[in-house]
Amino acid sequence: MFTNKKSYMSKIIYALTGVLFIWTSAAFGQSLEKRIAIVEEMVSKVSVANIIEMHDKIVSFETRNFYSDMESDTRGRGAAQRWMLGKFEEFSKAGGGRLQFYFDNYDQPPTNRSAEKYRELGEETHLLVNVVAILPGRTDNVRYIVNGHYDSRGSNGTDGKVTAPGANDDASGTIVMMELARVLSQYEFDHTLMFVADDGEEQGLLGAHHMAQTAIDEGWEIGGVFADDIVGGVLGGNGKYDGSAIRVFSPGPMDSESRQWARYAKFVGEAYSPNLLINLVFRLDRFGRGGDHRAFIERGFPGARFTELNENFAHQHGDNNDLIEFTNREYMAKVARLQVAILAYAGNSPRKVTNVNVSRDRNDYGTFIRWNHETEETDIAGYKIYIRKTDSGYWQEVVDVGAMEEITITSRNRRTGRETTWTGYRTKLFNRSIDDYVFGIVAYDRDGYVGIAVAAVR
Ligand SMILES: [Zn+2]
Repeated sequence: MFTNKKSYMSKIIYALTGVLFIWTSAAFGQSLEKRIAIVEEMVSKVSVANIIEMHDKIVSFETRNFYSDMESDTRGRGAAQRWMLGKFEEFSKAGGGRLQFYFDNYDQPPTNRSAEKYRELGEETHLLVNVVAILPGRTDNVRYIVNGHYDSRGSNGTDGKVTAPGANDDASGTIVMMELARVLSQYEFDHTLMFVADDGEEQGLLGAHHMAQTAIDEGWEIGGVFADDIVGGVLGGNGKYDGSAIRVFSPGPMDSESRQWARYAKFVGEAYSPNLLINLVFRLDRFGRGGDHRAFIERGFPGARFTELNENFAHQHGDNNDLIEFTNREYMAKVARLQVAILAYAGNSPRKVTNVNVSRDRNDYGTFIRWNHETEETDIAGYKIYIRKTDSGYWQEVVDVGAMEEITITSRNRRTGRETTWTGYRTKLFNRSIDDYVFGIVAYDRDGYVGIAVAAVR
């Protein structure tokens, strides 16, 4: 009798645990991708000690303002630039020299914002210096770019003299980016990864605009850009203490390339990051604020921005008020681990499919999904369908349709009698009404890396 009662109780406990689990999944998203061992290894290489050492160092230059000193080895932007390039060189040596690094110099003409400052300095142009590392891909030439802006500012944005350590805005993003460069440059990827310390963000996204324009002029194929900007704090000015998630901003519409890039980050990143989740924010940026992802998005590239959950404006854009003591380097390491996984996947991801189209099967109300996939890749193992309800921002289910053969379908227009042929991939979901769900298609390769979803939007 007693035993029976006990087992009955334990059944109730199991049942409750089950309910709790489902609730957790629904509330915080779910890792629908399986982990890949080599990516787990990469994630494990992120070092808090290394982040602390680099973060302390870059903040020690006291200011990295666009108008700060270029000559000193201990204070100002010149010292920071040379130190960052030296670190990239160090990472490159450790990885057998594959990581390339350079100063992306540019004579920045005056803008409305800077014209007066240029006159004061007696300058026609001002030297802009992005510090860049690039890990060339093995096969494909799609680029994935992560940037942090290393420039800082005090209460007056053009004051190059005042102490403006910018520990959070944006030494945090710059150092996370450098830690990614350190870890990922020890591995090889199909695609090209770029690690960029942007200059002049606080002066109107100058460094990012220069790089995004270079991308246009040189015809780069960019798969996605991340701006890491203010990713170092866990205690907000609103009093909230929370290091359990990070926000990722992306512009709409709901199935824009930028939004799919943000969803990709959540989808693959969270599989490796149980203690740092992604809160997608369906906006280009915070109200009244800007970031370097914008320069790329404006030119048609997919972009998103990472920013801590709760900002503290008392420790931004002031004189000597953005200090290390208001940052949390454990949190920065969690951001780096999350992004190592995202970039490892992006770096090895199969190319996106194209021409995704859905149609109704009038016989049984199921849904046909068809697409094309033009790629030279020889290791494609199959396709998956991501599914979400129309009012959900997140992919909620995955259907693995496995390896597929291209088919050709000839159809005749009943009215005109004209025949049309279509060649591509096609599958069918039974019991799924075309009206009630959004369907996204991804390819995956033999190692398990998935591509970025392309949704049928009509
Ligand atoms: Zn910033």
